[in-house]
Amino acid sequence: MSTFKTLLNQYNWNDTLQSIYAKTENDVLQALGKSTRDLEDFKALVSPAAAPYLEDMAQLSQQITKKRFGNTIQMYAPMYLSNECQNICTYCGFSMTNKIPRRTLNDAEILKETAFLKSKGYDHILLVTGEANRTVGVEYLKHAIQLIRSQFSNITIEVQPLDQDEYELLIEHGLYAVLVYQETYHRDEYKKHHPKGKKSNFDYRLETPDRLGKAGIHKIGLGSLYGLEDWRADSFFTALHFKYLQKTYWKTKYSMSFPRLRPFSGGLEPKVEMTDRDLVQLICAYRLLDEDLELSMSTRESELFRDHIVNLGITSISAESKTNPGGYVVEKQSLEQFEISDERPTEVVAEMLKSKGLEVVWKDWANNWQ
Ligand code: SF4
Repeated sequence: MSTFKTLLNQYNWNDTLQSIYAKTENDVLQALGKSTRDLEDFKALVSPAAAPYLEDMAQLSQQITKKRFGNTIQMYAPMYLSNECQNICTYCGFSMTNKIPRRTLNDAEILKETAFLKSKGYDHILLVTGEANRTVGVEYLKHAIQLIRSQFSNITIEVQPLDQDEYELLIEHGLYAVLVYQETYHRDEYKKHHPKGKKSNFDYRLETPDRLGKAGIHKIGLGSLYGLEDWRADSFFTALHFKYLQKTYWKTKYSMSFPRLRPFSGGLEPKVEMTDRDLVQLICAYRLLDEDLELSMSTRESELFRDHIVNLGITSISAESKTNPGGYVVEKQSLEQFEISDERPTEVVAEMLKSKGLEVVWKDWANNWQ
């Protein structure tokens, strides 16, 4: 059975990039005037030619989001279970060769952390680990999900890519969604940034959403790490990936995230800068491409940026996040995966959302089959 790899192999990076940069004002106006848009329209909307139309894009994006999602924003919290990792990624604080104290939470520590998140009102949780099969393999993840399943109605993971049968096992035990970002769709650049470990296998990562779709997951979260390569080309290939998956695994829901490179201890500078205006343009372009796509915003971005973007297309956000295992209660001082930009407490972010006329949603899913 073919996978997204077959489709991606039909594209050439440089040709794609050129075709995006060749889009004209007319292409942008045509894309804006349509009620349904395709990937050529998406190219026009992320092209430099669309930059003067940012206000129009933002207004349309806001209208479509309101029509489809109402005035709501879903809240979620990440919880790091482990910073063990057997990969080298040039942009990450948890990279195998970084000399940092490693730790993996035990049951009691997991429950202390979840008690804190429950006290803040969270019902959607994102469990995050590094990629270390020996310490945080499928058995550890299954156990962690079982341990907290009664407390959260939505459990998502962002961990090492797994095989289809492993996903099926976790879904059986209460897993709702999986986030897996390709980081960059540029094969050679991918190799440079992932020189060692299982993650160096570009194709295995690329085909992860296919395995998830076949396993029957409820939701898949996609994204690229913006800054590794030209954001316009990477966002196009992420959109191509999303549209392929949506057509192939139509029972599954999809979300999109927009991580930009953030500083960490010993950090990597972005190769290609993505400005705040670029990021707004990209978020609006995804909304104009698809009404149903959930758009997620993490605390990597600044207070100012998040306060502005929540009305323009975003459907879920995190707050008060810690990116270190035990960071909420157990061991507040351990080293983070990357620096958080918006450090406001959950209550303050919830108030900000309300002040903008948005209804804060803590729970939108009930796991009746538990
Ligand atoms: S990005 Fe993930 S896989 Fe890479 S070093 Fe960090 S934790 Fe490990």
